[in-house]
Amino acid sequence: MQRNHRILLVDDNEAIHEDIESILTFRDPSSEEDFLKIEHELFEEETESTDEPVNVEYQIDHAYRGEEAIEMIEKADRDGYPYSLVFMDVRMPPGMNGIEAVKKIWDNYPYIEVVICTAYSDYSWEQIIKNLGTSDRLLFMKKPFDATALKQTALTLNTKWNLNQQSKRYTEQLEQEVNEQTRELQELVKEYKEMKERAERATATKSAFLATMSHEIRTPMNGIMGMNEMLLETDLNQEQRELSELVQKSADSLLRVVNDILDFSKIEAGKMDIESVPFKPGKLLNEVVQTLSFYTDSKGIKITKSVDKSIPEVLMGDPTRLRQLLLNYGSNAVKFTEKGQVSIHVDVLESSDSKCTLKFRVSDTGIGIGEKKLEGIFDPFSQADSTTTRNYGGSGLGLAICKQLTELMGGSVGVESELGKGSDFWFVLTLGAYTPSELNGNGSTSTNGTSVGHSREYRILLAEDNKMNQIVAKKILEKEGFTIDVVETGRQAVRAIELNEYDLVLMDIQMPEMDGYEATSLIREMELADGDRLPIIALTASAMAEDREMSFNAGADDFITKPIDRAELIHAIQQFIGPKKESAQHVEI
Ligand code: ADP
Repeated sequence: MQRNHRILLVDDNEAIHEDIESILTFRDPSSEEDFLKIEHELFEEETESTDEPVNVEYQIDHAYRGEEAIEMIEKADRDGYPYSLVFMDVRMPPGMNGIEAVKKIWDNYPYIEVVICTAYSDYSWEQIIKNLGTSDRLLFMKKPFDATALKQTALTLNTKWNLNQQSKRYTEQLEQEVNEQTRELQELVKEYKEMKERAERATATKSAFLATMSHEIRTPMNGIMGMNEMLLETDLNQEQRELSELVQKSADSLLRVVNDILDFSKIEAGKMDIESVPFKPGKLLNEVVQTLSFYTDSKGIKITKSVDKSIPEVLMGDPTRLRQLLLNYGSNAVKFTEKGQVSIHVDVLESSDSKCTLKFRVSDTGIGIGEKKLEGIFDPFSQADSTTTRNYGGSGLGLAICKQLTELMGGSVGVESELGKGSDFWFVLTLGAYTPSELNGNGSTSTNGTSVGHSREYRILLAEDNKMNQIVAKKILEKEGFTIDVVETGRQAVRAIELNEYDLVLMDIQMPEMDGYEATSLIREMELADGDRLPIIALTASAMAEDREMSFNAGADDFITKPIDRAELIHAIQQFIGPKKESAQHVEI
């Protein structure tokens, strides 16, 4: 780096110029070498050591008046070779004096080092400082000058000036780098924001698409499955029965895939609601085993369960999701096991007054999973090998849903498996302890039976515009002994209620003329006058959480998604009518 050794002498007396210049230009090799050594240490530059004396060259310029000095300083700065040091006389008649000149210089070039040269008769130093302000760039020298003091002063101030310039450059460079990085960061933040907004828009579009698709698929599925179920109840020959059973099987697996995709998207979009209601884990396990036994029986394998005796009878949690987890693990176990058995185990890991940590395990003696495939088995769309789909079907989403659901409930999942020997899938959940006040405040628990067993005839209004769905729902309900009236629009439903006495309404949401939400709200308004409350179960092919919430907001008491599951429908109706009419509370006990 080039050092600056440019000095301006300002004095009206030519003799002073000569004096200072001769002192500063007198060459004393040893002190110059010292000077270079100091420079080297300070600026860390290689200085080749030679035997030749090294010259420190000051470039010395001369001004005789304050105004002239200012002009020269301005020009030097414009030329990019500024003065580092100015020796300034105080008295320079007839123009501005040295103090005024320094003031002006510092206005524009505050970095210049100044040595004020005074004689005894001039201003006192205190007066000068008062005038110029305290500054570390100001020194005083009394005339006549001492040569060594003058030389040392010039050397020190030059070095100080160069150091200041260097640190100024570093600071500027640093500021520039920081500014550049800040700009880059701001651009990144902007880009990230745009990406986030795009992703959010895409997610919203995806959710809307899935909700629509699920509705579009579920409505005809409702028809196919319901009609087929009725077909199976008629007199069929062997071949017809087999074909009809095949339809049922395919429709079942199609519905499972649709449900899986919908569940997965709902969890991804953060729209999966987790409940905390009282339920009986023992009863729930019995139901799961009963459901699975239907499949194990047909495959000729055994199903067993072992349940820790210390599990509380009632716990708080989300029984629907818990059942889904066990059925997902369980149906996989059945699917991948040809001989031997499937077992469900539940152990208490930790228990206190307020909560209970349980480990649920579903083990099988099936095909098992190789070590390599085991690692990502809970990832979406992962199947142990490419032949799995061909041989066993499935979407590869079941385990991913299990993992996400368990994590949503604050738990964890895992698996141990050995190829050819079997698998052991588990999840650990902490469930809340049940205190009776959480149910009706009176500690009573009701147990829902499986058959309605009506003591009198109940009349149900079905509001549904789709012919196929009307037939399916009507058949199911008539078989249970209910009397059914069918209307096709929300408006007709409201009119029917004004004219007749009903025990319950099954209200489709999407209907022409007046939809189910509006009809439900109208019915609730009408009821305000007489204080009655007619149970309304919303019925829709859309399984999104918003529909559920909107139905409840409109005044519905429960919500069922289509295709209608016979057991689910009966169970929902039973909450409100039948022998258990008094305990019309939706608890999974
Ligand atoms: P799928 O719908 O394909 O069953 P899952 O996510 O439920 O999707 O399972 C992913 C894969 O994990 C399966 O395709 C299978 O390869 C493997 N798998 C899951 N459970 C078992 C099990 N009990 N025994 C052997 N393999 C299993």
